[in-house]
Amino acid sequence: MGACKKEDGNWFSPGPIIVGAGPSGLAVAACLQENGVSSVVLERTDCIASLWQKRTYDRLKLHLPKQFCQLPLLDFPENFPKYPTKHQFVSYMESYAKHFGIEPRFNQSVSRAEFDSVTGFWRVETQDFRYFSKWLIVASGENAEPVVPEIQGMDKFQGPVMHTSVYKSGSEFQNQRVLVVGCGNSGMEVSLDLCSHNAIPHMVVRNSVHVLPREMFGISTFTIAMTLLKFFPLKLVDKFLLLVANFTLGNTDKLNLRRPKTGPLELKNATGKTPVLDVGALSQIKSCRIKVMEGVKEITQKGARFTDGQENEFDSIILATGYRSNVPAWLKACNFLTLTVLSLYGIPFFTKDGIPKSPFPNGWKGGNGLYAVGFTRRGLLGISSDAVNIAKDVTDQWRIIKGL
Ligand SMILES: Cc1cc2nc3c(=O)[nH]c(=O)nc-3n(C[C@H](O)[C@H](O)[C@H](O)COP(=O)(O)OP(=O)(O)OC[C@H]3O[C@@H](n4cnc5c(N)ncnc54)[C@H](O)[C@@H]3O)c2cc1C
Repeated sequence: MGACKKEDGNWFSPGPIIVGAGPSGLAVAACLQENGVSSVVLERTDCIASLWQKRTYDRLKLHLPKQFCQLPLLDFPENFPKYPTKHQFVSYMESYAKHFGIEPRFNQSVSRAEFDSVTGFWRVETQDFRYFSKWLIVASGENAEPVVPEIQGMDKFQGPVMHTSVYKSGSEFQNQRVLVVGCGNSGMEVSLDLCSHNAIPHMVVRNSVHVLPREMFGISTFTIAMTLLKFFPLKLVDKFLLLVANFTLGNTDKLNLRRPKTGPLELKNATGKTPVLDVGALSQIKSCRIKVMEGVKEITQKGARFTDGQENEFDSIILATGYRSNVPAWLKACNFLTLTVLSLYGIPFFTKDGIPKSPFPNGWKGGNGLYAVGFTRRGLLGISSDAVNIAKDVTDQWRIIKGL
């Protein structure tokens, strides 16, 4: 894959350069390969699907049923359960790469990528080489870097502070009082995991949050939502989901988990904020094994002071504060001036947060041979659609160039 000519540290790729060997990078490389187009995949770590292999906790399973998480052209093995474990997902990714002969160039961290309008080529720099191609496909992920918020007094805390990206299991925290900052899917699941290892998690819930059961009537909530959306307006589907959620989970407001005024699907569409799919944390909150805390006012030497005036001691702090894209750090076309000039010509590009300006399903194509895959705020589900679109678009150009 990706036969390149190397001349003095410069590699010339006849096909696209893909930045990132996660599910998105592999999916688009596979679709291109299927069309007879070679590509070069550059990956900063030493493995494929590095987020899943290196930066996720042991108990993680896919949040959605497997049929919504498989990549194009190759389904999950039939014997996989409805919600595959992270290890099963990684083994699927490995077979996927092998099946399509995808061999990323590992330990190649892209530090800069720039379009040269004179030559019509993208120049992509890593710590070792410069790569050139007519096409650049950004597959570096919405979750490339952990977000670590500035909380007053954090530097004073005497115990360990870690982001969920390095959390593996609650076994290291037995009998500890742990402050978990954040209440998204990761915050809830890490709190649950801490409970199962006899730790005492206190979970900070600063904003409102939608918690939905993972399944309703034995069917995944996601499947139900997708089916209903084919027939009913979004607001009505939201009302239905909340009615069932209140019936099965009870009134979460009483547990200090205030629901946003906007419904879960409407909120997801508007802001990208994913509802929490409950896999057991809620019952631990009800039985007070996970304690829900208001916002942190400041961190102290031995614990934290909260906005409601409470003060507690903690042994460790875990930041379940999410991730961000790293595209603005290396994609030159992402700077403000270029963005402004390009937008005058109507070319959709990345925002300053490193997410395509046009929302799904239109955010996959920029100008000058630039593409983005996996920035749809729809997780694995959004990847297939981007990958298929990009492969088709590049293949059409490839065939013209090759006279096919
Ligand atoms: C804890 C957790 C659980 C999740 N669970 C689910 C789930 O159940 N279902 C779901 O649909 N989604 C889930 N997600 C979202 C998940 O991020 C995506 O589904 C999926 O991993 C996205 O694939 P990707 O290839 O776009 O990005 P990533 O998986 O992040 O892969 C991007 C790759 O690009 C590499 N890279 C980044 N920058 C550079 C650079 N400058 N140079 C070279 N390489 C670079 C990275 O090392 C990485 O290997 C979860 C995310 C997290 C954090």
